[in-house]
Amino acid sequence: MTQRPLIYDFDQQELSAFLKEMEQPAYRSGQIWQGLYQQLLVDPGQFSTLPGQLRENLALHLDFNGLTPVRTIKSTDGETIKSLFKLRDGAMIEAVLMTYKERRTVCISTQVGCAVGCVFCATGQMKFTRHLTSGEIILQVLYYARMLQAYGDALTNVVIMGMGEPFYNYDATLKAVDILNDPKGFNFGARRFTISTVGIVPMIEQFAHENRQVNLAVSLHAAEDDLRSKLIPINRKYPLFQLIQACREYIGLTHRRITFEWALIDGVNDSPQDAARLAALLRGMLCHVNVIPLNPTHKYPGQPSQRERVDAFVAELGKAGIPTTVRTRRGVDIHAGCGQLATQEKSINTGSDQ
Ligand code: SAH
Ligand code: SF4
Repeated sequence: MTQRPLIYDFDQQELSAFLKEMEQPAYRSGQIWQGLYQQLLVDPGQFSTLPGQLRENLALHLDFNGLTPVRTIKSTDGETIKSLFKLRDGAMIEAVLMTYKERRTVCISTQVGCAVGCVFCATGQMKFTRHLTSGEIILQVLYYARMLQAYGDALTNVVIMGMGEPFYNYDATLKAVDILNDPKGFNFGARRFTISTVGIVPMIEQFAHENRQVNLAVSLHAAEDDLRSKLIPINRKYPLFQLIQACREYIGLTHRRITFEWALIDGVNDSPQDAARLAALLRGMLCHVNVIPLNPTHKYPGQPSQRERVDAFVAELGKAGIPTTVRTRRGVDIHAGCGQLATQEKSINTGSDQ
């Protein structure tokens, strides 16, 4: 049996076209859109504005459930909630909700696994299975939005920094952002999204021309090619020179600040010299650096930098006038790092001890 289309894969035009095929009046599309993205309804039976026959037909022809939570765990401080989800084909992905003061940030995945294979990353260690559809990306956001809605609360930020490389699943990622951004639906402001890329140069160039207010983050982790290529194999294809040039062009075109991400790995990329090299690379750029002590993973021996090393690294960047934030390793006790829970589940399933 062929799979029914996932309703969340439709943008509003596609939904309208589908409903037209079902010989429905045009206004039904708006009603359903509101039900999905404003009321956050989960199944067609709940759409009280629709006639019973249409609800039944929707249930018959479309899938409303593309993401099933299989495990949800909370960090001991209660501020981080991570869920492992099963997709319709049985593939597993994860998403994380982080609450901090007024912020409610969800971190979502764009692929099952990742082909880039960064050595320190649990998702990269897992290899690539497939891209997510736009609906599967959207459903991760809606899952947490519904959870918060039950407490009269709402999401404030969406970071596309979970499993996978969003710029290798470019169209589905931007389609998801656009749908969630729609003022007639979820109405989540473009500036509240951040897309993190490992540095796929042609896609950064394309993204620069999109004229979107979405924030861009670039995972750097090293400021010299030898080291970066060891950590991030794609650096051989898109070396630092090209990457930084693309970032400068992006800033020139959009006038938007880029966030550079740097996982501090003890004795690998955390010396004051590393910081000085980074400062030189970023000189004059409209940017911000986020440093985060590495989340250790099973297949990589690197360890997080100690407090003094972190402070010295940040101080060096400060001297060069580069704004820097230290991100705490939130949810470490629940393996909230990218891909870590799915890897764990896989090893439980296969009985391996990786
Ligand atoms: N593929 C994209 C987005 C997903 S990874 C990218 O690479 O940017 C999101 C961020 O988590 C990246 O900055 C990545 O380098 C970082 N990351 C991955 N594994 C990590 C780990 N074990 N510890 C700390 N940061 C990690
Ligand atoms: Fe892929 Fe990003 Fe992980 Fe690298 S860090 S393997 S690009 S998900």
